[in-house]
Amino acid sequence: VNAGLSVVVVPERCVGAGQCVLAAPEVFDQHDEDGVVLLLDPRPPASRYDGVRLAAQVCPAAAIHLTDLTAEPQGRNP
Ligand code: SF4
Repeated sequence: VNAGLSVVVVPERCVGAGQCVLAAPEVFDQHDEDGVVLLLDPRPPASRYDGVRLAAQVCPAAAIHLTDLTAEPQGRNP
């Protein structure tokens, strides 16, 4: 289904603050060594959207990007 939120993280920006893991532990984790974010679920279920949106808001490095696929036009293939 091409709808819902798509989650992308930018590990290069991540400062390992762990705010995303607190907000949505089912979607984000951190690498043990350096605390850099690890994306567990790039297409989380709707029940996780509140936590995912909160994570993107509170991330101090703006390393979490959300795309609402529902808002995009259908049939993007050329
Ligand atoms: S909140 Fe942002 S900076 Fe902190 S661990 Fe998550 S992605 Fe990295």
